Amino acid sequence: MFDVVADIFGHFIDPRKRVYVGYLLFSVLIAIVWLIFFRGKSLNNSVKILFDKKIWLSRSSRADFFIFLINRCISILISPVLITQMVIATAIFYWLHGITWLQSESLQHVAEFIIMFSFTTFIFLLDDFSKYWVHRWMHKWPVLWALHKVHHSAEVLTPLTVYRTHPLEGIVFTIRGTFTQGISIASFIFFFGNSVDLFTVLGANVLLFLFNTAGSNLRHSHIGIRYWSWLENILISPAQHQLHHSVDIAHHDKNFGAALAIWDYMFGSLHHSEDVESLRLGVEEDDRNFNKLSTLYFSPLMEIFYIMSRRANTIYSKLRSITR
Ligand SMILES: [Zn+2]
Ligand SMILES: [Zn+2]
Repeated sequence: MFDVVADIFGHFIDPRKRVYVGYLLFSVLIAIVWLIFFRGKSLNNSVKILFDKKIWLSRSSRADFFIFLINRCISILISPVLITQMVIATAIFYWLHGITWLQSESLQHVAEFIIMFSFTTFIFLLDDFSKYWVHRWMHKWPVLWALHKVHHSAEVLTPLTVYRTHPLEGIVFTIRGTFTQGISIASFIFFFGNSVDLFTVLGANVLLFLFNTAGSNLRHSHIGIRYWSWLENILISPAQHQLHHSVDIAHHDKNFGAALAIWDYMFGSLHHSEDVESLRLGVEEDDRNFNKLSTLYFSPLMEIFYIMSRRANTIYSKLRSITR
């Protein structure tokens, strides 16, 4: 029993996870400093704003908490079934060996520091880049949007909203992570040999550690921290991700980035933050009650079934008109 509870809540004590208690404490600190020095609030008021009961005890936040519990149980149950990154890494490693014009370990003489620096940066960039594209596809393709809508149905944001996802979206993102790590590990070991390693702090990639220490949890919060305009071209500010959740049509399909804004900048989906008191969040075009757990888990499946059967019908009609 203790093991199950430890597994479910283990993310809070794992520095490789965004909701690690250390990162949450840094986020609290950054939010209070922002409210005092950039919004002119007193310390007392800042604490009150940060821990506003209307946010933390809202229907949406309560749903986030239950989704967190259910999704953690589901991911513990299915994680052994999901293909592991070592299987992918090994497959890619052997595939690279099969390419005759590629020389294995051709770069193994490179200084260890350079190899570690390159590997740490490469894996972080590839991970962030793939998150950008999978997130973008989640908005573009109706079947994936049916799943991703669950995340966007949050009416208020708290750090636990990061877990407000349909389990099938969780699987898509797990497969993405497995592939990016497998590709990075296999290609680096192939070219650089066995001295490949990560720069880590508390077991986490140092770049991810810095990103999380710098208040990544505030992306899902009501504290609209903005960066300078030039910095928002490079890093996604909390206010930019909050804008991604806004119902305003001008904010739709903007700021897909996780840590870096450069992908949004490069592929035309960047939107700088705006100086607004608060944004209206949620999915306006859909009037289903997404704070009901049964709706959250089952209605996306029904929507997907509906989309697929409509597609199948269209294809069937086309085929019939051709063969007639
Ligand atoms: Zn989204
Ligand atoms: Zn979000």
